[in-house]
Amino acid sequence: RVKEDGKNNFQFYAPSMNEIVSKKMQLENGMRKALKQNEFRVVYQPQVEVATGKIIGVEALLRWHHPEWGVISPAEFIPIAEETGLILPIGEWVLHEACLQNKTWQQNGYQPLRMAVNISSRQFQQSNLVEMVRDTLTKTGLHPSFLELELTESIIQDSNQAVHKMQQLRDMGIHLSIDDFGTGYSSLSYLKTFPINTLKIDQTFTRNIYTDPKDASLVDTIINMAHNLNLKVIAEGVETEEQLQFLETKNCNEAQGYYFSRPISAEDLEVILGEEVA
Ligand code: C2E
Ligand code: MG
Ligand code: MG
Ligand code: MG
Repeated sequence: RVKEDGKNNFQFYAPSMNEIVSKKMQLENGMRKALKQNEFRVVYQPQVEVATGKIIGVEALLRWHHPEWGVISPAEFIPIAEETGLILPIGEWVLHEACLQNKTWQQNGYQPLRMAVNISSRQFQQSNLVEMVRDTLTKTGLHPSFLELELTESIIQDSNQAVHKMQQLRDMGIHLSIDDFGTGYSSLSYLKTFPINTLKIDQTFTRNIYTDPKDASLVDTIINMAHNLNLKVIAEGVETEEQLQFLETKNCNEAQGYYFSRPISAEDLEVILGEEVA
């Protein structure tokens, strides 16, 4: 519609370049402050073993509680954090927070959980990533086998470097997964060379598995392919009983989504974990 209105009207519909730039700068300055003033929080979303219904892991997801702007979605600020490089200190903070939380749960007698932490491509490319991760595990005392790093297909750009780094992380005992699998425009050949453990099926596929035979068949195919390559599969975005049943018949290993729980605070998760044991 904007195009049909002619170029003279364009400015009435789209934010001006100045507005976009100043919004970005506001967010960038806001994020710098947020780190110093403790405005970031981590919430945790359970990952459930399909066959048993047990919680076996959680994904750490970042939240920003700004004193005036309210809660800002990571979809809005993570891309700008990537662009500006702020993702490096923010990502390090998230990793530390998540590892410390997992260690604390273990010390308090909760069942051992795997903690999944999102690593953006800029973070993955930083030269001292492996050292940073190792230091964080040492500082928090978390055993590496209880940490999983979620990577995206975009890291494939620099394939040789990527494989080397992944191997170093795997050698430490850390698990690696590919997030949003199937949404990047990359060839599948990396599945042969990347030392990964798990594929996370993106929620855009999971959403319609019960209603759209094409999505059903894509998900079925991804699960079979993954299993043939000795990889585990987690389906993201599971919201209904029907979706879960479908995944169960296809032997999907794990599931995550609002059907089980939204991402919640550590305290709220403790309530659920307590109920599971009882
Ligand atoms: P993601 O890693 O793919 O995380 C899954 C997103 O789907 C989360 O959104 C989660 O809240 C949402 N979700 C989970 N279950 C359902 C469901 O059943 N239905 C629907 N509709 N959505 C569901 P969130 O928390 O807003 O995060 C968005 C993205 O921001 C994440 O996608 C991830 O790419 C990025 N992100 C979040 N936290 C971090 C972080 O600490 N570091 C980095 N680098 N990226 C992060
Ligand atoms: Mg993720
Ligand atoms: Mg995802
Ligand atoms: Mg995503």
